[in-house]
Amino acid sequence: MRKPVIAGNWKMYKTVRETKAFFTKLAPLVAGAEHAEMVVCPPFVNVAIAVESAKSTNIEIGAQDVFWVKEGAYTGEISAPMLSAAGCRWVIVGHSERRRYFGETEEAVFKKTVAALDAGLKPIVCVGERLEQRESGATEAVLAEQFAGGLAPLTPEQFVRVSIAYEPVWAIGTGKTATPGTAAQAHGFLRSRIRDRFGAQVAGACRILYGGSVKPDNIKALMAQPELDGALVGGASLDPASFAAIVSYPVGAT
Ligand code: PEP
Repeated sequence: MRKPVIAGNWKMYKTVRETKAFFTKLAPLVAGAEHAEMVVCPPFVNVAIAVESAKSTNIEIGAQDVFWVKEGAYTGEISAPMLSAAGCRWVIVGHSERRRYFGETEEAVFKKTVAALDAGLKPIVCVGERLEQRESGATEAVLAEQFAGGLAPLTPEQFVRVSIAYEPVWAIGTGKTATPGTAAQAHGFLRSRIRDRFGAQVAGACRILYGGSVKPDNIKALMAQPELDGALVGGASLDPASFAAIVSYPVGAT
């Protein structure tokens, strides 16, 4: 009922030339894939070449961040209408690296999500606890706070166009994946929050992706959990064969 989304977050990797080469290799490997929506999120400067390279393929392009004002004196920022005009269809909001290194707050996450929706983009809003929060038993409290600040203030009409990525910070870039059961428990908790705020129908339709050291050899077990509706993939999305193998989880590695 919920079509999975497999999204790659390239972070601050790849040049224009490398971006072009990536899509030349990826496109034929995933040409037949219809079971999931496929998204690649390159750095801003590579969006144009990514959109051009992915034209006439089943791969959509997203950005890794967005500012909430449409235009103005905000040196270095990129707005949602600019991303949309450049051919982006998706945008990651509130990634833990943005929260950690750039001080992104729940209020910023909310404002960025609204701006993205207003421009017709599909936001993937990231939430997740740090290691010490998990170890002290605060995981659900953290997720509840992130949901309350960044997502609950949306209207139901806005929320239905949002996907969530549960990304435990201790699993990002560490090679330490959450077990499928641990991930499913967090997803279930988030879904219960969505149900309380937006009702059962909206909760049942909301796609919650898992992110944190997803690789070709663990995607199948993760996706076997009905609570997991796809993956946000960092490191393993940089290599076309590895990303294609993740996309191809129902049939095994390509
Ligand atoms: C991410 O950047 O969102 C991520 C999950 O990274 P990695 O897959 O490398 O852990």
